[in-house]
Amino acid sequence: MKAKALVLEKVRDLSLREIDLPSKVGPDDVKIKIDTVGICGSDVHYYTHGRIGSFVVREPMVLGHEAAGTITEVGANVRDLKVGDRVCMEPGVPDLSSRASKLGLYNVDPSVVFWATPPVHGVLTPYVIHPAAFTYKLPDNVTFAEAAMVEPFAVGLQAAVKAQIKPGDTAVVTGAGPIGIMAALAALASGCSRVIVSDLVDEKLAIAARYPGVSAVNIKKEKLADAVKAATDGWGVDVVFEASGSPRAYDDIQGLICPGGCLVAIGMPIEPVKLDISSVAAKEIRIETVFRYANVFDRALAMIASGKVDLKPLVSETFPFDQSIAAFERAAEGRPRDVKLQIKM
Ligand SMILES: [Zn+2]
Repeated sequence: MKAKALVLEKVRDLSLREIDLPSKVGPDDVKIKIDTVGICGSDVHYYTHGRIGSFVVREPMVLGHEAAGTITEVGANVRDLKVGDRVCMEPGVPDLSSRASKLGLYNVDPSVVFWATPPVHGVLTPYVIHPAAFTYKLPDNVTFAEAAMVEPFAVGLQAAVKAQIKPGDTAVVTGAGPIGIMAALAALASGCSRVIVSDLVDEKLAIAARYPGVSAVNIKKEKLADAVKAATDGWGVDVVFEASGSPRAYDDIQGLICPGGCLVAIGMPIEPVKLDISSVAAKEIRIETVFRYANVFDRALAMIASGKVDLKPLVSETFPFDQSIAAFERAAEGRPRDVKLQIKM
């Protein structure tokens, strides 16, 4: 069926036009009228570079994967959702009978199909069809704008889960981009007593530091190691969340972490990074990695609904669907005060 959508034709070439999209609601699917879609760094990167790693845009592709909306149709087998439910969607769909899925690691199922990752179309279009199993009903007090931010917040929450935070833990987050801020908020809501966020850009740090429990370190002006020493009486933080993706963030990263602490690698450096394993081992630092998320969307919604996490201040501006191209141009500018730009359908 033809539908209007924001289509990435090729690098630096977007159009709002009709394109053929699936229209058949399978027995386990729901159809959703999209309300709000957040623009992600990955959407912008496909727009500006046409590829991320081995994923290359070879044919026109609809962008967008951070979405919320209202159910308009349900498949014959769907029991837990009904027409009119407000929902948000997990954009990655694994093969539920795969070995990874059976182990609860469906995010690393090699056959996972993920919105707006070539060649799979995204959701910047009025209606989408999605498995009910990866569609989550919104609590009444969660807005569509907040619900469209569950996807990036889920990455931060996955990092907090992997860190195995204990009550009162201290943490550092390197990188104050949207995912770094999400990791800081998830860490605080998961029991951290304080989080130090580091970056090179004051405007980004100022946004992170507006949250109680977050302090900011601009590493152009101050050494992160000194700030950590001062804050922890020289012991080191329990957890470092690396969210910048910069190989340089790993220079003496073990020096920030206390003995027995944890390093969670969230950012994805383009090049291999150097890590001093001997020094890491001398403190028995545990290393964890994050690839998207699994089994955290419902927890993220519960945290937002309860007021434990407030994502509303992170929406920098909302554009109407017919100005989607302008929204992407703005996102590609990378203004330091912009955390999340959203498109309202
Ligand atoms: Zn995203």
